[in-house]
Amino acid sequence: MRLDAVRLNCERLRLLLLDGAQLCAVVKADGYGHGAAECARAAQEGGAAWLAVATAGEAAELRREGIGGRVLVMGALTAADTRMALDADADVVIWDRRFLDSIRADAGHAVRVHVKLDTGMGRLGTKDSDEARALFEQADSAPGVELAGLMTHFATADDPADPHLGMQLDRFNAFVDQLGGRADDLVVHAANSAATFRDRACHFDMVRCGVAIYGLDPFGEDPRLRGLDPALALESYVAAVKRFEAGESAGYGRRWTAAEPTCVGAIPIGYGDGWRRALSNHCDVLVGGRRRPLVGTVSMDNVTVDLGPDTEVEPGDAAVLIGAQGEERILCEEVAGRLDTINYEVVCGLSPRVVRRHE
Ligand SMILES: *Cc1c(COP(=O)(O)O)cnc(C)c1O
Repeated sequence: MRLDAVRLNCERLRLLLLDGAQLCAVVKADGYGHGAAECARAAQEGGAAWLAVATAGEAAELRREGIGGRVLVMGALTAADTRMALDADADVVIWDRRFLDSIRADAGHAVRVHVKLDTGMGRLGTKDSDEARALFEQADSAPGVELAGLMTHFATADDPADPHLGMQLDRFNAFVDQLGGRADDLVVHAANSAATFRDRACHFDMVRCGVAIYGLDPFGEDPRLRGLDPALALESYVAAVKRFEAGESAGYGRRWTAAEPTCVGAIPIGYGDGWRRALSNHCDVLVGGRRRPLVGTVSMDNVTVDLGPDTEVEPGDAAVLIGAQGEERILCEEVAGRLDTINYEVVCGLSPRVVRRHE
């Protein structure tokens, strides 16, 4: 994990921002698998003024690691979660009265809340702007509660052809406008990474960028096209090289057999590490600076690659599953494409067994 890339991606994102808008670095799910505390620090060095996580436990973990600054817990909270979030001195998100009451009951110190309007995500937040306004008033006058922000979240920012984002933006703007100047002292925020790239009208006072700070492309394209630098490389090594005769097979179920004599390398990584079984016979691995087809079934702890008949590859040679080697590169977006999923899921799926090395 290259932390300088996280720092640089944050700096790059900040250059895009509407004047005065701040960057909130989203480090939920262990920093999208990259290591939450390490990436939080790197993001702060890159100018992120806020951090965001999904759960109270994640906020507590950041504090345990000695991370300071504003932290927003974006997800739903039980009463116990709320206590934990407040102990971590985090801001929380509210969208109904019941929630506000439970917060007040818990409060030892002023609780900073962000009112969430669901403008079309259909998930958390209230859809009713009258209810959101009432909640705003209640939070504003409640002792021990400090109204800190207004927020919404976009459903289709990653799809430039979809008009839904414009509609969500209109609803959110209408809500903010109805509050008159009273929103001026609050942090108004809506954009995720994709919306941050798409339209400065989405920036408001702060953007919440996750995937982009890790150098992953929110549109599933080559991150370099948007000046993003992937922080993550997934590396292993060739543990064994074997000569195969035509007809010999590699792996469970004999799902690949050598058509002609060749050499097969075994690499100690598998679905137990998050290298998904659906990649069986269906991806490349970089060895010796070249793409090698992964052949046979991905097992829990190993995969096999076809090195060709005259290979110079030896046990101990480096293998790169995501990242660069020589002139070649395998992007996380490529792996996601093969799995018919998004880059987010690939990095979040890397299991704890994969040793995280930060440099
Ligand atoms: C995860 C999340 C983000 C970050 O989204 P990216 O697409 O990774 O930038 C922003 N806002 C909310 C509410 C989120 O849950």
